[in-house]
Amino acid sequence: MTELLYRRVLLKISGEALMGGREFGLDADTVNRVAGEIKGAVALGAELCLVIGGGNIFRGVAGAAQGMQRASADYMGMLATVINALAMQNALEQQGVQTRVQSAIPMSTVCEPYIRRRAQRHLEKGRVVIFAAGTGNPFFTTDTAAALRASEMGCEALMKGTKVDGVYSADPMKDRLAERFQRLTHLEVLSRDLKVMDAAAVSLARESGIPILVFSISKPGGFAEVLAGKGKFTIISD
Ligand code: UDP
Repeated sequence: MTELLYRRVLLKISGEALMGGREFGLDADTVNRVAGEIKGAVALGAELCLVIGGGNIFRGVAGAAQGMQRASADYMGMLATVINALAMQNALEQQGVQTRVQSAIPMSTVCEPYIRRRAQRHLEKGRVVIFAAGTGNPFFTTDTAAALRASEMGCEALMKGTKVDGVYSADPMKDRLAERFQRLTHLEVLSRDLKVMDAAAVSLARESGIPILVFSISKPGGFAEVLAGKGKFTIISD
């Protein structure tokens, strides 16, 4: 069996990572492809939990910009993450991966409520746990939810699957002089204001002593490769 870099990890992907070439919402082929990446990691023996954003459907700040109350708009954003979680659950189960969705906003006809010890039990049994509805609180993001759940679950790493293969000094899609970092500390990410995850998430990961690995979720087999310590990624650790 492949030697894993980390055994229990939380994977954070943005809602936009499920959009494929679309402008909005979910692209079924992309959801299935990402589910395949997760299946590959489970097959290596990793205990996996997931946090998926909601930006492909609704973002609180966008609602607030149109005059909505920020808290109400944020609740809409959190509900969007539940839609993404259910889509990913469906795709994973169709590929034979056992899953549970736990929502920070209780929705008992749709999924389980978030119960820490129960989630841990699912992970021990090899089920992929998808944490939906972020932290359950407005004014937060799913990045922070990812750092929070990773801390609560005792994850050894927080993996952030993005469009690019690591952390850059500027957006490499827009600036060809952007520098790629191999290794950073949590404090460097904060002090240089690098756009990896929001500051609350990076601070919490730092306090919990959890490394953040940034890698490309678009590269086929990339997730399993990074888990096995190969492939390209930026590691943020103290
Ligand atoms: N959100 C929130 N509290 C949380 C997590 C998310 O209010 O704990 C809301 C917020 O409005 C956010 C939206 O849900 O804009 C979608 O999450 P996010 O922007 O983090 O998604 P991503 O950018 O990762 O797709």
